[in-house]
Amino acid sequence: MAHQYACGECEFMVRSENDDEVIDLVRNHAESAHDMQVAADDVRAGWESVGAGAQD
Ligand SMILES: [Zn+2]
Repeated sequence: MAHQYACGECEFMVRSENDDEVIDLVRNHAESAHDMQVAADDVRAGWESVGAGAQD
C-alpha cells in the first residue's frame, strides 16, 4: 500500500510506499516552496492510499 499526497498550493505530488519518505518529501517541499511548516500528522491526514503499482 502506497500513499500519495498532492500539494494544495501547486502541482507538486509525491507517492511512495515508504510513509516516512512521503512525510519527509512533503514537509521539505512545503517549507522550501511555500515557507510553510507542515506536521507529520497533517501529511497523514491529507494523503490518499493508493494500490502499489496500480498506476504503473
Ligand atoms: Zn506546493
